[in-house]
Amino acid sequence: MKRRHPRRTALTVLAAASLLSSLVSFGTAPAAAAEATGKVAGTGTARTGGTPLNMRQSPSSTARKVGEVANGGKVWIMCQVVAEHVNGTVRATRVWNRLANNTWVSDAYVQRAYYRIPVCSAARPPTAGAWTLPLSAGLVSGYRTINRPTHDGVDLGAARYTPIRAVAAGRVIRVVCNISRGSCDVDGNRALSGCGWYAEIQHAGNVVTRYCHMARRPAVAVGQLVRKGQFIGYVGSSGSSSGPHLHFEVHVNAPPATRANAVNPVWFLRARGIRLG
Ligand SMILES: [Zn+2]
Repeated sequence: MKRRHPRRTALTVLAAASLLSSLVSFGTAPAAAAEATGKVAGTGTARTGGTPLNMRQSPSSTARKVGEVANGGKVWIMCQVVAEHVNGTVRATRVWNRLANNTWVSDAYVQRAYYRIPVCSAARPPTAGAWTLPLSAGLVSGYRTINRPTHDGVDLGAARYTPIRAVAAGRVIRVVCNISRGSCDVDGNRALSGCGWYAEIQHAGNVVTRYCHMARRPAVAVGQLVRKGQFIGYVGSSGSSSGPHLHFEVHVNAPPATRANAVNPVWFLRARGIRLG
């Protein structure tokens, strides 16, 4: 196998499978590499020698960085492709891992037992499992309804102090008290304007989610990496709010999250197998 010119063009699944079979010679069960189309995904550990392992938007060291895994941190591998060759601290390989949050890390820095990890299908990205509900509660107000055409999110009628969770892995990009006057630490009302205490999280694929009206300052800080389902704050009624609920927004082609790039969270999550409200 010649490795002088790593191919960066998209490989067909068949070519990737065949290359994987010949390249996956590490681990304890090389013979099983031909079965790389199995359905068992695996976990691994980032081993970089110190610096964080970069999560990329596509399987290339020049692709946009969309997050990082601390050295020694766990990664959840959904599938693999053959792409750019990387000489890493664990091995030299052209295998790249697609993680549960739809980002990519080079397998050259991932220590793991041998698993039958499937080859990634270009046609159907494995988004299953990457998303979850922010909380379980009924929908009390929809996205841009006739009565509220400027309502750019959905309202979920959860009780005060219900934990709010990140709907996918990502990075916290905003933690803000947004109110026309007064404090976000007390209940607001409809005479005020603003989202109250809120946080925004940037996910892979330029998606931003926003969580409003928290009871107190969000439990996360700007720059912090969060896992899918990680607790980020409590339901409250701060800002322009008539009672405890979570106002939840989804923005695409973001940041910044704007009115123009808000999408219906119900449809967005439904496309990812999650039923909201
Ligand atoms: Zn709302």
